[in-house]
Amino acid sequence: MKKFTRRSLLLGTGASVGVAVSRYLSNEDIPHGRWFPSPEDTPSKLVLNDASLLNPTKVAKHLVVNDDPGEKLVTALRSELNEARAARRPFVASAARHSMGAQSLAEGGSAVTLDQNWLEPDTASGTYRVAAGMRWNQVIAQLDKIGFSPKVMQSNNDFGVASTFSVNAHGWPVPWSAFGSTVRSLRLMQADGEMVTCSRSENADLFAMTMGGYGLTGVITDLDVEMERNARLTPTYEIMPAKSFGIKLVAALKDDPKIQMAYGRLDVTIDGFFDEALMITYTPSADQQELPPASGSGFLSKAAGHVFRRQVGSDRVKGLRWYVEKHIGPRVAPEAVTRNSLINEPVATLDDGDPKRTDILHEYFVSPYRFAGFIEACQDVIPSSYQQLLNITLRYVDTDKDSVLAYAGEPRIAAVMLFSQEMSVRGEHDMARMTQALIDRTLELDGSYYLPYRLHATDAQFQRAYSRAPEFVSRKRALDPGLVFRNALWDRYMAKL
Ligand SMILES: Cc1cc2nc3c(=O)[nH]c(=O)nc-3n(C[C@H](O)[C@H](O)[C@H](O)COP(=O)(O)OP(=O)(O)OC[C@H]3O[C@@H](n4cnc5c(N)ncnc54)[C@H](O)[C@@H]3O)c2cc1C
Repeated sequence: MKKFTRRSLLLGTGASVGVAVSRYLSNEDIPHGRWFPSPEDTPSKLVLNDASLLNPTKVAKHLVVNDDPGEKLVTALRSELNEARAARRPFVASAARHSMGAQSLAEGGSAVTLDQNWLEPDTASGTYRVAAGMRWNQVIAQLDKIGFSPKVMQSNNDFGVASTFSVNAHGWPVPWSAFGSTVRSLRLMQADGEMVTCSRSENADLFAMTMGGYGLTGVITDLDVEMERNARLTPTYEIMPAKSFGIKLVAALKDDPKIQMAYGRLDVTIDGFFDEALMITYTPSADQQELPPASGSGFLSKAAGHVFRRQVGSDRVKGLRWYVEKHIGPRVAPEAVTRNSLINEPVATLDDGDPKRTDILHEYFVSPYRFAGFIEACQDVIPSSYQQLLNITLRYVDTDKDSVLAYAGEPRIAAVMLFSQEMSVRGEHDMARMTQALIDRTLELDGSYYLPYRLHATDAQFQRAYSRAPEFVSRKRALDPGLVFRNALWDRYMAKL
């Protein structure tokens, strides 16, 4: 039996003493088993992967499409779709492929990457028409020039707009629900190659299925999306017990309707695991003259990224980071920053550069009033795993009134966790076990979990979190009897329903 020193304790991810035995073992005590192949091991233009790096998938064909929405694009997509249907292979549309469970991939399928740069704003109606594969950094760049900003998007800017709708992503602009709530209409190519327009008043059923429907209803070609005026925003910081975060955030949003952006962070050190929270809210500054162009994160964030990476296996660095975030950040952060600069953050700032580890995200949604129970669940489950939790960000998501596969049937606190996982069999098994335990505890709180990440949930957990899945599946089968639109999410959970 290994002798436990303070150092070996710190090498694990444990929180407070005496919760679980496994935390006292260093991960080195367990054989790592096979290392997962990296993309370098499988060099082929037809082997695609997603952001997990754990899903190398051999496709039959990969096509990158750059055409603006219009007849040329429709003809190109239709021809690919017809070919896939005739060959009885799956057809998957994607953009940045930052999902993590092969939701954007299908073995032996036709993979189409949409990568376009086309946007037409309509300032009178406060909307813009945008190509499905446009990335958010390009959207921000264009809207910034005319004084506007995306209303809701993810916290990073690399993703595609139609993908954002297809996973119904959310971000930290408040008080909105997920991105789908800001989409007025879209055009979709269905399984037979026909184009349809969907909105809340036209083909409303299809609109509700496509929002958060992971590309299983068809290929989106373009969308009509609401925008918000860009603004200079001033932050306010508040430290509080983590368990009170949900109620405090809801109260802050109720008390001050001027709040435009809000998020929270938690202490992830061993001794203070999820004890303390930092809440940051942004309201419009008094001075709204001459907004500077959207900048992105700059030096501070890149320097923070360096410290961020050194947290793996080091509780000392986790403690340092929390200290900086709590005490130094509020002092050195700019007094005001534009909304567009805040959301203009590339994923690359988080890049780990370690070929034996990969970043895996998790996300859970619970009512603000049950958030304290969620904190307890995380304190019970996460420290006793071998996973390295590097970050947790908390957001507010209002009720999703539209999508069939909704994860926020009521206002929810979204807890986004970023783990660094060893790319080995033991890392994968431990991650699956921990994920299932966290989902169980979240379901007990009437919460749910997010679908674009690893497919570790059990069938029963999926069906409990997404209770309308059987209805989604039977309507999908009617729309797409040949099942041309399918991916790993379909194969794993829905094909058997
Ligand atoms: C670092 C990081 C940070 C993240 N932050 C957030 C966050 O703040 N909030 C949040 O909610 N999520 C977040 N996510 C999850 C992210 O929103 C999803 O993984 C999203 O799908 C990524 O967009 P993508 O362009 O990479 O999508 P892809 O992985 O390319 O596609 C996702 C799904 O959309 C479908 N799809 C794509 N294009 C089309 C189309 N034209 N027509 C029909 N279906 C289509 C695909 O088939 C697939 O099922 C984050 C992920 C990462 C890796």
